[in-house]
Amino acid sequence: MYFSEDKISEIIEKNDIVDLISQYLNLTKKGKNHWGLCPFHTEKTPSFSVSIEKQLFYCFGCGVGGNAITFVQKIERLSYVEALYFLAKRAGISFDERINKNDLEEIKIKEKLYKINMEAAKYFYENIRENSNAMAYLSNRGLEQGVARKFGIGYSLDSWDKLNRFLKLKGYSDELMEKAGLIVKKDRGYYDRFRNRIMFPIMDLKGNIIAFGGRVLDESKPKYLNSPETVIYSKSKNIYALNIVKEIRSLKDIIVVEGYMDVISLYQFGIKNAVASLGTSLTAQQAKLLKRYADEIIIAYDSDAAGQSATLKGLSILQKEGCRVKVLALPEGMDPDDFIREKGVSAFNDLLNRSYSLIEYKILNTKKNYNLNILDDKVRFSKKLAAILCELESPIETDVYIKKYSKEMQINEEAIYAEVKKNKRKHISGNNRHNIISRLKKEGNNLSGQIIAEQKVLNICILYRDKSEYVFKKIKPDDFSKSLHEKIANIINLKIKEGKLISAGELLIHLENEKEKENASQIFNIDISEKDIELLDYYIDRIYQFSIENKIEELIKVMNECYEIKEEEKANKIFMEIMDLQKKKK
Ligand SMILES: [Zn+2]
Repeated sequence: MYFSEDKISEIIEKNDIVDLISQYLNLTKKGKNHWGLCPFHTEKTPSFSVSIEKQLFYCFGCGVGGNAITFVQKIERLSYVEALYFLAKRAGISFDERINKNDLEEIKIKEKLYKINMEAAKYFYENIRENSNAMAYLSNRGLEQGVARKFGIGYSLDSWDKLNRFLKLKGYSDELMEKAGLIVKKDRGYYDRFRNRIMFPIMDLKGNIIAFGGRVLDESKPKYLNSPETVIYSKSKNIYALNIVKEIRSLKDIIVVEGYMDVISLYQFGIKNAVASLGTSLTAQQAKLLKRYADEIIIAYDSDAAGQSATLKGLSILQKEGCRVKVLALPEGMDPDDFIREKGVSAFNDLLNRSYSLIEYKILNTKKNYNLNILDDKVRFSKKLAAILCELESPIETDVYIKKYSKEMQINEEAIYAEVKKNKRKHISGNNRHNIISRLKKEGNNLSGQIIAEQKVLNICILYRDKSEYVFKKIKPDDFSKSLHEKIANIINLKIKEGKLISAGELLIHLENEKEKENASQIFNIDISEKDIELLDYYIDRIYQFSIENKIEELIKVMNECYEIKEEEKANKIFMEIMDLQKKKK
């Protein structure tokens, strides 16, 4: 549903942040801020601050920060839109007038689909006890009754239309059954999609049954059959068993496996933090969802080739979303279900403790392709190794890996170092080189003072309206050196033009992603003293001067390029511009 900017502002305004956070933790007022023990990391002395004035929170311990919406997202583990609903409800803001007829119709259909799926699940569950083959399957797998019930495991009868007839008796139409993916239309009528299969209900985070997975009892094909995509089910957006795992208190990591049976087996052996991605490889949406609930994700896919390439893909997707990732490597030809039933839980825990980091996993995966007893392979592998290690940013980490593998392969450490260095240089000499050098120049000794000046000015703009008008008469948003600063300056400047006041908490609404919001809350946590107000002109001047220097530097580059390609007329024009700028410099 659509939330207008005004509506979001209203939500922020009507949910005072101190009042909101007080519902979750004890806050004590000290100075301008309220302080408490951070709910997002363990601590004994309060470093979690809440500011009424700015309508922001920030933890000096773990760096988490944001506005009321961010807080609710984190503490209630909600998506952005869900958090807006939550806060709207809390403040008694109604949305009903915004629900149009189509939305209402969709909500109604969804509810009907949840209900019909629930009926089907109950039916499958009842069936299983009446079918000896299905019962035998479960007991062969050593599955306990309680666990089977917890996951709602059922059985679809070996019949073309038993489910169809059952649901009809309950008053459901063929049309709705088809919409739910429970029956399939054929020339002469409908037939049940799932026949003679063990049934696994798939639930969303709220516990609604949104789809089914069915597994054959024997070796017939296809081994797994899933519900099609429906109004309520999208394979790429849901994760099997996350509704169960998310209930674990102080959940630290989540294990991602391929199949339902892997999740269920692990659960039965006491490893209750496993979920299954419903396809072979993870999607960005699933990664985002996982990140909401745990900091670290461990991938435990099958050890076959498909599983391994899915592992690598999954790892990079998770990493892109900012998750810490590890890989649990299973022995050749095994999945987590086989492994834990054959080797037991302590062997599984051993593997878990020995999970590999992404870099290690890449190295091992590469190593498999070489016979390190052959000199030629040794050389080729060490080149590959150097290319992988070159991704590492920390020299200490690089060092550790080089030491480890030089010993293992009996290659001189220095040789690998040299190779890594060569790779890094190659890395930089690509397109990046230009950017890196100009960035380094910018970030020279001037950096910290410059950035502080910019942050002070942004804070003053938020706290003192008259000052903010003054600031933007003297400088422009693009005079700020960092892109986030420029963005914030732009937002404030726009609001001034609209004649509106904006709090820091409200400003965060206009930023795109979590990281930006967090960085912005950090910026707005700087204290502004009387002295800073006195220094405002100095800060403004510093920003202006620095911006001119940058512009000059950029123009000199362009001018030189013009000279090189013999566009002298253009180069001369730029030269004049540079001279003008020089005059403005102090
Ligand atoms: Zn914290």
